[in-house]
Amino acid sequence: MAPTHVLRCCQRGLAWIPVIFIALVVCWSYYAYVVELCLFLLLMTVLSLFHAVVYLAVFHVSFIMFVWSYWKTIFTRPSTPSKEFCLPKSEKEQYEKEQRPETQQEILKRVATSLPLYTRTGAGAIRYCDRCQVIKPDRCHHCSACDMCVLKMDHHCPWVNNCVGFSNYKFFILFLTYSLVYCLFIAASVLQYFIKFWTSDLPESHAKFHVLFLFFVAAMFCISILSLFTYHLWLVGKNRSTIEAFRAPVFRNGPDKNGFSLGFSKNIAQVFGDQKLYWLLPVFTSQGDGFSFPTRLVTVDPEQPTECLQPGGLDKG
Ligand SMILES: [Zn+2]
Ligand SMILES: [Zn+2]
Repeated sequence: MAPTHVLRCCQRGLAWIPVIFIALVVCWSYYAYVVELCLFLLLMTVLSLFHAVVYLAVFHVSFIMFVWSYWKTIFTRPSTPSKEFCLPKSEKEQYEKEQRPETQQEILKRVATSLPLYTRTGAGAIRYCDRCQVIKPDRCHHCSACDMCVLKMDHHCPWVNNCVGFSNYKFFILFLTYSLVYCLFIAASVLQYFIKFWTSDLPESHAKFHVLFLFFVAAMFCISILSLFTYHLWLVGKNRSTIEAFRAPVFRNGPDKNGFSLGFSKNIAQVFGDQKLYWLLPVFTSQGDGFSFPTRLVTVDPEQPTECLQPGGLDKG
């Protein structure tokens, strides 16, 4: 038992390395920008108070927003299925005793009738996690890194050492947005001093090293974040998770990659909420409970003939 426990602790510790790396780069960028560029180079060498004040003001706004959204993405716990998705005691015992998958499915189907479920496995069965022993709600997936079922799981992100899902997807998008803003602002404001150092228009000093590296690092991060950022904006517009983009969710009438799409503006509201005032703040405003999602089902469910599902309508079951 002990060696496995030690191994798990080591794994958990090692998983923080990418986060610590990012934190160190951010701390250095703060020092390089504020102390070396603004206080030393601009105030004492170039003597430009105006530029120093404007740069420091914009820098601190983007820095605070970046750190805030990064913090929220890392430390918001992923939401997991509620108790309703666990099998009741008697059904659970029956399920565990049963060897035949068909009979196990019968038990799951019986329990699932009271749950808001629209998706199935590729073979048409009820989605059940043997590890967590729960019926998986729509869009929920088991994360092997976190060892739990995560609601509306998008992906497990090593850079935040956390699962990105229903509880923190908005924070993750804002983290990408503000890291892009932060890097773009640094690269744009440092560019002219970068060129001046390069062409020897500025005297040699310790600020030179920091200014040159600031530009390189900011530009490099900009390029790498930009593709991920645009991809996730596209996913938000389509109301798809990364997992669903690779494998379309299977509804009772087959796979449908647009099954959860409600139209562009409603899709955005699903993640960011309907109050635009809060869109850019890393506070939770996503719609719904994470267990059930409005779907775009176009056919009437043969198993529930009383339900009338409209195309583009909101059928929450
Ligand atoms: Zn699970
Ligand atoms: Zn995870």
